[in-house]
Amino acid sequence: MQTNAQHHLEIGGVDTLDLAQTYGTPLYVYDVALIRQRIQAFKKVFEDRGLDYHISYASKAFSVLAMYRLLKEAGIGADVVSGGEIYTAQQAGFEMSQTSFNGNNKSRAELVQAVEAGVGHIILDNFHEIDLLEEVLTAADTKMKVLLRLAPGISAHTHEYDMTGQIDSKFGFDIQSGQAEAALTKVLAAKHLVYQGIHAHIGSQIFETVGFEKAADALIKMAVLFKTKFDVTTEVINVGGGFGVRYSTADTPLAPQTYVEDIVDEISRQVKANDLTMPAIWIEPGRSIVAEAGTTLYTIGSRKDIPDVRSYLAVDGGMGDNIRPALYQAKYEAALCNDPEAQPTQTVSIAGKYCESGDMLIWNQPLPQTKPGDVLATFVTGAYGYAMANNYNRNPRPAVVFVENGQSQLVVQRESFADLIHLDK
Ligand SMILES: *Cc1c(COP(=O)(O)O)cnc(C)c1O
Repeated sequence: MQTNAQHHLEIGGVDTLDLAQTYGTPLYVYDVALIRQRIQAFKKVFEDRGLDYHISYASKAFSVLAMYRLLKEAGIGADVVSGGEIYTAQQAGFEMSQTSFNGNNKSRAELVQAVEAGVGHIILDNFHEIDLLEEVLTAADTKMKVLLRLAPGISAHTHEYDMTGQIDSKFGFDIQSGQAEAALTKVLAAKHLVYQGIHAHIGSQIFETVGFEKAADALIKMAVLFKTKFDVTTEVINVGGGFGVRYSTADTPLAPQTYVEDIVDEISRQVKANDLTMPAIWIEPGRSIVAEAGTTLYTIGSRKDIPDVRSYLAVDGGMGDNIRPALYQAKYEAALCNDPEAQPTQTVSIAGKYCESGDMLIWNQPLPQTKPGDVLATFVTGAYGYAMANNYNRNPRPAVVFVENGQSQLVVQRESFADLIHLDK
């Protein structure tokens, strides 16, 4: 946490009280330098080892024009999961060959859009999609590079809703039952699909490396099987994302690049042991690139003290700008922007303004005395915050500001009331 001479919370060299004053609250503030650092740290893992690699930022964590422009500047790719994300990347001038397209139910229209946009790779998730894509490509008379998303049967230690790699999952071709081999057979028979490799994403907000190593082993095993049984070379091994971040002091993740170091070293060992050619290694980090760079600023309003029970302190946002506490009991921490290091003198629970009892941002947050009008910051809100923002109770979505080197830049405007009704007939 950075403070300035007035003891105010500062982000990217900008006083958060000035940001609240200039742009209003609630406000998402992104520390751009931290995003750049995270990207560089991931790149370094591969470059130190002289490996062929591709970093595909999982756009769904935070997908706006400014983010795609930042990725482009940083020289990394992006994974997209919908027509809307493809469109946004295109409008940002993103190099579409540097995108991959994931998802368990891509529509024909989305596949057509992806092919027309020149998406680099499509990550095939199911048999229906293999047929559908082959049809779309036949009509367009063009080819597409594809990866197969596999369900390696590994459940990572994290919240149940975030587990996507176990057998009982809606995502990917199951390895154990032979679906992965059947999928490869189908891809090899399709004239317009160019097999490039395999993919697994075992979950999100994972703190241990063991799950990733197991997934890497499972992928290598498949690459070996594909080689011996089908004489097919797997050129890409994509291990997905899911590297954990520190939302609160209770979280103890490793440094983001440590996960990647472990995965890469495990793949290198297994490649050698199995006498394979070293594939390109792809990662798809979302949260670990943007979560910690994001802070949300709110203005404190009403307060309810229930003697001997609890004090509720309400802010001008809530589940419309951060639904994660309501959705998965996600934990956050907060501080007062006018003096974030002041000694706490009370414990309050931070409530949103939405008409749901579950609209709570933080339970039992120690804070100094507060008064209406004070600005409160919640930390680590950069991933799946704005991305999941909604208009419940017809509240406009907040603005997004990028800060760097003492400068702030509005990158997403605050929604207006007119915006709220512009689709209504
Ligand atoms: C969500 C997702 C990611 C990114 O997960 P994070 O936890 O944000 O790193 C990567 N790959 C796929 C396929 C995903 O669905």
